Amino acid sequence: MYVSDFTTPAHKDDVVMSDEVVAHLEHADDLALMSMSAEGLQQKLDALADWASRNQMEINTSKTVVMIFYPPRTSRPTQPPSFQLYAQQLLIVDRYKYVGVLLCSSGSNTWDEMISTCSKSARRAANMCFFVESRTGQLPPWEGCMLYSAQLDSRLTHAVEVTGVGTNKQLELLESVQLHYLRRLLGLQTRSQKCVLFSETGVLPLRARRLELVLGYLIYLLRLPDSHYAKRALRQTMENADSRRSGWWHDLRQAEALRVRVRAISGESITEEIRGSPKLEILRDRVEYLARGPKLPAALTFRPYLKIMNKAARQAITRMLLSDHRLAVETGRWDGVDRADRQCRLCDSAVEDPLHVLFECSQSVDLLNLRRSFWDEIEVACENATAPVRGVPDLREATNARASRLRLQLTPASKCIFILLADARTTSILAVFTHRVLTLFDSLPPRRYPGGRLQRRNAV
Ligand SMILES: [Zn+2]
Repeated sequence: MYVSDFTTPAHKDDVVMSDEVVAHLEHADDLALMSMSAEGLQQKLDALADWASRNQMEINTSKTVVMIFYPPRTSRPTQPPSFQLYAQQLLIVDRYKYVGVLLCSSGSNTWDEMISTCSKSARRAANMCFFVESRTGQLPPWEGCMLYSAQLDSRLTHAVEVTGVGTNKQLELLESVQLHYLRRLLGLQTRSQKCVLFSETGVLPLRARRLELVLGYLIYLLRLPDSHYAKRALRQTMENADSRRSGWWHDLRQAEALRVRVRAISGESITEEIRGSPKLEILRDRVEYLARGPKLPAALTFRPYLKIMNKAARQAITRMLLSDHRLAVETGRWDGVDRADRQCRLCDSAVEDPLHVLFECSQSVDLLNLRRSFWDEIEVACENATAPVRGVPDLREATNARASRLRLQLTPASKCIFILLADARTTSILAVFTHRVLTLFDSLPPRRYPGGRLQRRNAV
């Protein structure tokens, strides 16, 4: 197609972008005409028909449609204007896909329809990812995160350069797919806390991800030559922002710094949420043990314990760390019971929380046997433990595996757990042990509180 010589006569209702008239757009053989009025658009249709006949071409009227965008909060005429091409009336539509972007003129927001389509498509992709489990076996978290970036991220951020970050309603629709996928991947309940889904996988919350992409696109626009249409469009939106949104241009100039900061800001807010959450007691004290010594953990990163291949063990340790279990410390919260009253169902002498049941409670022979074989396995693993575990100051002086085991047993449980998580072998042993202990506690009758929900106080 050679359409470069196609022009339309000037009209008073032409669309002006920044300081240039933009009356038509061409993308390969896709052509879009535009005008601010019905009369102006009809004039352009006539001009196009003329140009086509001069060039021995004919326009396919069945594929030609009209879309009318009314200004917000204006009443629409009962009889919409009509448009003709070759004396045939053109179809007026309220949704149309142009260059991969679905436009919609009927709702209050042009992008509602497209966001809804993207969310449906992402949900289908998510279901497909888990459907393969029935054919290939479980989908482990690491591979699940790779599938997320390949299959879901592209759908959840489709055309974000055009639509922008999105309204709250649009974002909630897309976010629900992201949350559903990550919860299912980690084996958590549908109402588990959101912050841990990101802190444990390194996936960025969708709002931050979309903002990151939009800011990246803005930087690209700012670097374009002034003659570029995309640059003119940017200038026009800046002019539109004028005095009422005077801070916008200023923010734009800082976009690059902002973009780099998006991850840091998300990380900070997630860390803050974890620290402030009464549920996430274990994660609050998380320390990462590296070969060169302990350090504060990264806010957002894929956690090595999610690489455990044994699904039941992996999901048990995930639920234990992220407080998504049925120990009394959690079920008592649902009943509104004070934390101190959520006593252990076996010994009745301490709060039934993960650290108590894993490392302290000694009221059941079954539990003691499980714990004894757990420590025996840890002792064997200490023989070949990797540098991070050997780098723990308290263990450095242990001369043999037996001494390491004893020192670990004497370490406070809240710290010991993260030392064990520093090594793949001890992580696996801890995960299997957690699975066994949680199974044992799941088999106990749930604790009943006198007064039940009526006893509700300031439970945290
Ligand atoms: Zn107990």
